[in-house]
This record gives sequence, C-alpha cells and structure tokens, in this order.
Amino acid sequence: MADAEYPGTLAQFDRWFATEDACRRYLAKLRWPEGFRCPDCKSAEAWLTGRALMHCKGCGRQVSVTAGTIFHGTRSSLRLWFQAMWWVTAQKNGASALGLQRILGLGQLRDGLDLAPQAPSSDGPASGHRKMLGQLERRG
Ligand SMILES: [Zn+2]
Repeated sequence: MADAEYPGTLAQFDRWFATEDACRRYLAKLRWPEGFRCPDCKSAEAWLTGRALMHCKGCGRQVSVTAGTIFHGTRSSLRLWFQAMWWVTAQKNGASALGLQRILGLGQLRDGLDLAPQAPSSDGPASGHRKMLGQLERRG
C-alpha cells in the first residue's frame, strides 16, 4: 500500500477522516485491500453499517471491521483514535497506511477473520488486546 493512501499532513488528515463513517470505510479498506469477501458465502457484495459491520448482501452475515483491533468494542470516537494513530505513525515511520496497519495488527489478522464477529464476552476483548500487544512487542 502506497504512502499516498494515507494523509501526510494534518490538514489532509482532517479532510480524509472528517466523519466516523470515513474512518470506518478506511478501516474496511485496510482490512480488505482487495475488497470485502464474505467468509461464509464468498460474496463480494456488502454494505458497511453504522456499527462498523460489513453486512453481507448474499447471506446476511455481519463481519466486524474492527474485530481484533484496539478499536473493537470501544465506545470512543474512531476519529479520536485515528488522530492518536496519526501522530504516532507520523513521528515514527513517517505517516503511512502501512504504519497504521502495523499498529492495528491488521496485517496478521487478515487470515483470522473467521473468528469474527463474536459478542464481546467478559474476557474476550481483554484477551484479544493481550494477543495484539504480544504481536506488537514481538515486532519490536
Ligand atoms: Zn455472505
């Protein structure tokens, strides 16, 4: 993914991620760079709901865009998270979609999507976070 696919300045950032919906769409694009495909019926037709779920047109399955990321289950604004991420990636590696992908652990999670979505259980999200933190630590 080219750096041009990620805002390089704060002004660009504000334009790109003006709304929560824009953030959700961007996350979906990072998660499925070649386009969404339903894990059940393999349909590529789906729409993004206001709760960050891809709703499959074929079979009605809903797949969470944020499952396995630190965004999952958060009630905070995605824009707020994105702003924090932007500062981190902008300072560490130069702003890039890849940097954000790394921070979110999306690169490794792409194949594990069959685990999602699940209703958050008492220990579910917490163990998910630990797992992701472990991945981040291993990457250094
Ligand atoms: Zn489907």
